[in-house]
Amino acid sequence: MEKSVAFVVGLGMFRQITKLASQDFKRHRIYNLMENVIILGTGCAGFTAAIYTARANLQPLVLEGDMPGGQLTTTSEVENFPGFPEGVDGYALMEDLRKQAARFGARYANDFIERVEFDGEVKRLHSAQNVYEAKSVIISTGASPRLLGIPGEREMFGGKGVTTCATCDGAFYRDMEVVVVGGGDSACEEALFLTRFCTKVSLIHRRDELRASRIMVERTLGHEKIEVVWNTVVEEVLADEDGLARGIRILNRETGDTEEIACKGVFVAIGHVPNTKPFEGVLELDENGYLSPAVGSMVKTSIAGVYVAGDCADHVYRQAITAAGMGCQAAIECERWLAEEG
Ligand code: NAP
Repeated sequence: MEKSVAFVVGLGMFRQITKLASQDFKRHRIYNLMENVIILGTGCAGFTAAIYTARANLQPLVLEGDMPGGQLTTTSEVENFPGFPEGVDGYALMEDLRKQAARFGARYANDFIERVEFDGEVKRLHSAQNVYEAKSVIISTGASPRLLGIPGEREMFGGKGVTTCATCDGAFYRDMEVVVVGGGDSACEEALFLTRFCTKVSLIHRRDELRASRIMVERTLGHEKIEVVWNTVVEEVLADEDGLARGIRILNRETGDTEEIACKGVFVAIGHVPNTKPFEGVLELDENGYLSPAVGSMVKTSIAGVYVAGDCADHVYRQAITAAGMGCQAAIECERWLAEEG
């Protein structure tokens, strides 16, 4: 099964679904209960939409992703989410959001949505085993940061030196040397942001020209703390005796030479992949695969009753708080639409 979008529920319900499906010997089980709203994804956007729709007494069904809690669960401490002067553990924050929505009646389930039908009054969501029906849908499936797929990267990801978010983790590398990998706007933005904290930022790019916009290129090349290492790929993230990043091994693609660069932080900024495959051909996507909201709105789509929130529709801000804000907006729009049309 291609897990283009993976949604996970509580284990109890998952077992129940599996048992019922095998008893019936049916490939597809249709949930006859028409849901008021189904929320796809459990990052900040999905949970916030769940809190708002649950408090509006809509009893949302929330289908969790294959990364329940979203990207914040991969970072140790979140210092820029308002309301936590001492910072907050990303995993704990998501657990609290989950509980907060459940307190008002949100229900969670675990399934992999592969295909959607939004053309009729009833919105249908298909997984391999099940078909869900709903009056409205809030899509908050997030985006997954692209990784390099090299040794040491996953082992040291999130708290041990490898990260994909300078805004989230940059401050932990104060007065240290770090590297950023990539040559696009994200990589330049991350590198420039990191100069606020770090003594030196090496930008490792695989070509001899940056892909980023001209202004970002100028700022990056003109910054005294940033050194661009051209025509170079990272082959491995190297660990110290405690399992924390101590450096990287790089390969110069022109000369074939390898060398090590000492650094405590490795910021991978080679783009994101929005989790929007099930919506291809159904909703409008931009050239990078992000869901495009309808003109004049951040969260409405061209289909009435279908809303978007968070990183699956936002490649500009990509923050926990902005995703939460979009989740709130989507929920309010959804609630108003259901009151009028549903
Ligand atoms: P991007 O433009 O796709 O750039 C990705 C960069 O990573 C490219 O330089 C690419 O190298 C490199 N790369 C990709 N795979 C790699 C690999 N396996 N190993 C090494 N390097 C690899 O992604 P992005 O920078 O995240 O930007 C995405 C979109 O968001 C863009 O449209 C961008 O303009 C926009 N954005 C805008 C802003 C802003 O306006 N402030 C900020 C961030 C992003 P090559 O160049 O060789 O392909």
